[in-house]
Amino acid sequence: MSARILVVDDLEANRRLLEAKLTADYYEVLMAQRGEEAVQLAKRERPDLILLDVMMPGGIDGYEACRRLKAMPETRHIPVVILTTLDDRDNKVRGLQAGAEEFLTKPIDDVQLMARVKSLLSLKVVTDELRLREANGRRLGVIEEELRPDPLEQLRLSAGNVLVVDDNPTQIKGVQAALGIEHRVTVLGGENAAGAPDLVVVSVVAKSFDGFRVIARMRSGEPTRHLPILAIVDSDDRKRAVRALELGAHDIITRPIDEDEIIARGRTLMRRKRYMDALRSRLDQSLELAITDQLTNLYNRRFMNAQLGPLVQRAQCGGDAVSVMVIDIDHFKQCNDTYGHDVGDAVLREFAVRLATNTRPSDFACRMGGEEFVVIMPRTAGDIACLAAERLRRHICSSPFNVPGVPLPLDITVSIGVACAERNDDTADTLIKRADEALYEAKRAGRNRVIGRTGAQAA
Ligand code: GH3
Ligand code: MG
Ligand code: MG
Repeated sequence: MSARILVVDDLEANRRLLEAKLTADYYEVLMAQRGEEAVQLAKRERPDLILLDVMMPGGIDGYEACRRLKAMPETRHIPVVILTTLDDRDNKVRGLQAGAEEFLTKPIDDVQLMARVKSLLSLKVVTDELRLREANGRRLGVIEEELRPDPLEQLRLSAGNVLVVDDNPTQIKGVQAALGIEHRVTVLGGENAAGAPDLVVVSVVAKSFDGFRVIARMRSGEPTRHLPILAIVDSDDRKRAVRALELGAHDIITRPIDEDEIIARGRTLMRRKRYMDALRSRLDQSLELAITDQLTNLYNRRFMNAQLGPLVQRAQCGGDAVSVMVIDIDHFKQCNDTYGHDVGDAVLREFAVRLATNTRPSDFACRMGGEEFVVIMPRTAGDIACLAAERLRRHICSSPFNVPGVPLPLDITVSIGVACAERNDDTADTLIKRADEALYEAKRAGRNRVIGRTGAQAA
């Protein structure tokens, strides 16, 4: 589906003009003529981008509409470009301060418009993806809301690190003075380097280096690819401006640099970076939480299910064999009944440590629940799996568990069932079921033993 753009202008002719330009580039266009209407429509339709006229007679103007859009959780992530015939800097800065991502002056330059639209939309794709994953995490209950409030609420701007890449001393001083009010500013090649940058200001009109190359390098390097870049260009140099945006600069500012404008643009870029960082780190945490068992830090059942299916399928199609062992602690209920639940938990944790340190790095040790564990062994035939299980069994029973609060070390034993999927019609379920049956057999045969159901190599 192509991106949907909301065009807001009181004049029909302006709306039609923009509609024609945008539909020619295969964007889907929605239209509104008033500020209030635009806010309602945006809330309902959730467009991917909003082009917003400033002067609209009657009702609220573009600045106010922008403020309202940026205040609502449903619409605050939608990029806004403010359009106006007013060219004076006060209005420009007002738009950026209202939270708009961009500002374009009418008559609108086609090339600039399309470059901005493209760059804002590509950024929104990433933000949407992160927001979607976060919503999923919240639905699954792996992101706790009250612990980590909405990242947008955390954007009360604290100082960030700005790196300036420029060779013009006067200009550098200006940038330093303006951005230095709120941030720590470092000049490339200078001393007093502040930490990793949150924003990079690159001059593409520098004489002593190629600013475009700097931008391209930053965009492709892993540690720098997420950094927002603000490019400095000459005001009448459309070609360079477009080139900078195409190479991946997020925003441009023209010379001579207006102090308030660079402050406002810096703020918007920094806010966006913080938003992305917050989402990304929440995502890492939520993924980690989603696949980890909280008591033992082993993988959980959800992770096991996700891993095992594809491995079994591959084995079936002639790929490497995959084996599993299902492990159950013997008479664990007795341990709980005698020493209490906390001691039981401590035994589970100690067992998990031994399990994790006695499986190969390529194996996945998972806790299925209770005192039952599964180890997935990719690329492992049944006989090898049985040897591994036997080694683990011995490692558990040969040295008793020292548990705080219990005077004597505890003798713990486990029973293990092993199964292997090898060019048969196994699924993850039938494989686990076979291992379970083997485990049951081991229990019946007296516990503290390994039984394999591994096809040809049944142990
Ligand atoms: P068997 O040798 O046949 O496996 O006997 P068992 O006592 O180990 O097996 P059973 O399934 O009868 O009991 C398992 C016990 O594990 C019951 C339950 O209270 C306890 N348990 C399950 N999850 C936890 C847990 O997270 N912590 C603690 N402390 N105990 C748990
Ligand atoms: Mg048990
Ligand atoms: Mg059990």
